[in-house]
Amino acid sequence: MLACAGAVAVVAPPGAAADLPPAPSVRFVLQLTTSLTLAPAVRDAAVHEVQQIWAREGISIDVASPLDAPVSTPGMRVLIVSAGGASARRDDHRWPVAELTGDGRGEPMAIASVVAARRVLDAAGLADGPGALVARRLGIVLGRAIAHEVGHHLLNTSGHARHGLMRARIDARDFADLRDGGFDLDDDAAHWARARLTRPPADALRLARFVYGP
Ligand SMILES: [Zn+2]
Repeated sequence: MLACAGAVAVVAPPGAAADLPPAPSVRFVLQLTTSLTLAPAVRDAAVHEVQQIWAREGISIDVASPLDAPVSTPGMRVLIVSAGGASARRDDHRWPVAELTGDGRGEPMAIASVVAARRVLDAAGLADGPGALVARRLGIVLGRAIAHEVGHHLLNTSGHARHGLMRARIDARDFADLRDGGFDLDDDAAHWARARLTRPPADALRLARFVYGP
């Protein structure tokens, strides 16, 4: 569910990919709650993956406890739960590990499922192996899924790109690949985001709505 009140639809111009504006320097806080059974190695790998993906766009992801006092920095709540999976979703969405929903107080919240991430490793044939490697892969899958939902939030869109972080469908082996290629924000969205985030950052996040072209 995406809050779009007051949003201004902006269609990315074709060919906007060239000459990306410089990445801004913006902080974004994830108020992270994890399952008590989540291994620290999985959590750390997930956080690192989210940070790495968004750092390329000049967005510095900080992690805070939800018990911390509300911060003025833009951010969102993230839950990593052990059970379940993403609930029923639109047919065009094949990121089965996380979903963006509300926290009941009108604020966005991403929920990511460890069980669903394990299913991805199963589907990729990567569920077995040394414990540290499997934990890292699990964390990477969770982190990519969370980063994708952060993208929906920041771009204020439920739309998807043809490739990159915001693509609609993702192959299980790509999802769990240890290499970090393939999860950049696509150029159209990056161009749009960078142009806006170079303005005063705190209020610039999610002022408008990015719309992927047909
Ligand atoms: Zn999506």
